[in-house]
Amino acid sequence: MPLFSANLCLLCRQSTPLIVCAGCAEQLETLLIGQHQCRQCALPLNAEAEYCGECLATPPAFDRVIAPYLYAHPLDYVIGRAKHHHCLRSARALSQLMARNIELYYRALPQRERPTQVVAVPLHWRRQISRGFNQTQILARAGAQAIDLQANTRLLKRVRDTQPQQGLNRQQRLANLHGAFTACELKGQRVALVDDVVTTTSTAREISKVLRRAGASEVHIWALARTPDAHL
Ligand SMILES: [Zn+2]
Ligand SMILES: [Zn+2]
Repeated sequence: MPLFSANLCLLCRQSTPLIVCAGCAEQLETLLIGQHQCRQCALPLNAEAEYCGECLATPPAFDRVIAPYLYAHPLDYVIGRAKHHHCLRSARALSQLMARNIELYYRALPQRERPTQVVAVPLHWRRQISRGFNQTQILARAGAQAIDLQANTRLLKRVRDTQPQQGLNRQQRLANLHGAFTACELKGQRVALVDDVVTTTSTAREISKVLRRAGASEVHIWALARTPDAHL
């Protein structure tokens, strides 16, 4: 009788008790961006500069982006599997990465620098029903738990369905998102907004404005990955 392995590595299909085998986990670690990131939007920077040109020219309403990985293979594959194929093992692997990074990031910080509320970039309810799940909500739950909070899905809503951001230029992206979100009262709250990937920062910028208007005193963006070019 043939023996079937209980588990295969998500990436290389070798037998492993883990979701991602040790070799592939090592490959993932090579995507860690390290020290040289814009202090505000986490854009990878070549030089020793503290901020990128865009954050200097048009400062965003968020305070910082915590996005440790470069959006590249194999992470882009895992994110795609979770998002478009609803692969639960991929979603679990990403949740573990999110939890670990959030725990590591805030571990050394005092309570007053930690978020008090965690929200996910919401899908429009119609899209959420057709997709069946919202990957950013799963990531938000994992990240929040890592610092003993609970993600709150009721604080932020997408009130208008928008067309996908891909293929739009910067101006069109901002116009596309304008008025798409509303938030409940957040007076004095430090809010973490969770997304899977930060590319142009348009979504993070728009929602941060909404959160600030609702009273948030600070906005942190939690993402897994950052694209190297802000102008994709
Ligand atoms: Zn592997
Ligand atoms: Zn920046």
